[in-house]
Amino acid sequence: MLTPQGYVADAPERRQDDERGSVDEPNEEQEQTVSEDGVELKRRLTQRLGDYAAIDAVAGHEHAMVARLAEDLRAVVDQVSVDPFGNVVATLPGPENGPSLMIAAHSDEIGGVVKAVEPDGMIRFERLGGVIETLLVGRAVRIRGHRGVVGAKAGHITPPAERLSVPPLRDLYVDMGFDNPEEVANLGIRVGDAIAYEAPMRALANPDRLSGKALDNRIGCAVVVELAQRLAGATLGCTLHLVVTVQEEIGLRGAQIVTFRLDPTAAIVLDTMPAGGTPDVSATRDLSMRIGAGPVITVASRGGNAGAIAQPAMRDLLFATAEREGISYQRALFYGGNSDAAAVHLVRSGVPTGIVNIARRYSHSPVEMLDINDAVGSLRLIETVARGFSADTDLSFLASDPG
Ligand SMILES: [Zn+2]
Repeated sequence: MLTPQGYVADAPERRQDDERGSVDEPNEEQEQTVSEDGVELKRRLTQRLGDYAAIDAVAGHEHAMVARLAEDLRAVVDQVSVDPFGNVVATLPGPENGPSLMIAAHSDEIGGVVKAVEPDGMIRFERLGGVIETLLVGRAVRIRGHRGVVGAKAGHITPPAERLSVPPLRDLYVDMGFDNPEEVANLGIRVGDAIAYEAPMRALANPDRLSGKALDNRIGCAVVVELAQRLAGATLGCTLHLVVTVQEEIGLRGAQIVTFRLDPTAAIVLDTMPAGGTPDVSATRDLSMRIGAGPVITVASRGGNAGAIAQPAMRDLLFATAEREGISYQRALFYGGNSDAAAVHLVRSGVPTGIVNIARRYSHSPVEMLDINDAVGSLRLIETVARGFSADTDLSFLASDPG
């Protein structure tokens, strides 16, 4: 579902010019600047996403990603901290005694964890996050930066019935190319080490469509850092916490910790979500959101035993902002999954939380695919909300649309 219809393709780029003054009747020179800025923004986000997605940061093992994010945020923001779990917070101070807004994306990716090493050097493993068996067999992986593959039984010795079935995780193993456990140990590989897909991001035949591992949620990280660059030094009506959380993929854990500490007035969670638009997904019975149709303003999610109904005032603020700014958006449910929003809104006495998702195909696979224009739209939407959030922002329940 794409709503509302009829926005001109370049409306979001034009609106970006708000800081520079009126855009009612842009002259040729302004148009040129705006469009170049849009192209440049897309290029920067693509570059940053590629850099971030190349980093291995399986849940609970986000060190390399956290180090990179802290460095990139410290380049533009004075106040950057990393807590003992790896949550990164960059704070842009606003008025004293004013409200605070937390904008959060997670840094971790799904993967595996080493459980044992066989006498022949093969590595048994468990999952960390939503890895599924159908996507594991024959994949390239890395452990501590060393290359391996998930072994696949030779077709020649696979009985016909077995070819159509998926081996259970218990039967799978990682082969690092050795024949004994000593050489595996010599690499420094130990029980508890993380296993990540090796699948560098590539632009596809359609260059706006990017594919690779961990686009969930390195695209959110890229947007958060871009927000820091754009908002650092701005006069804000709120204190802004730009946050990257850990351990989202294994139960929204980092978000609980950091939200309790920051105690924000309100929050926006930015994450990816599975998309339809492929032959195996019904747009009405499964997933309505599509890649390339703009950011998804998610109204409710439900996965496992957790869920979130977007706080109605924050939800309405996101919708109203997208409408006013001419940002194409999608309105959707996210059932069958969750984001940090499911944890964030329940902390302390409750945090009014809005949810923005970037649709992606092939969720939790090494070839996740997104459209970079959706990241540009998400950035513009969240940036505009952040610039306008103040003590005057009405978060009251009764003033919101009952829906
Ligand atoms: Zn995610």
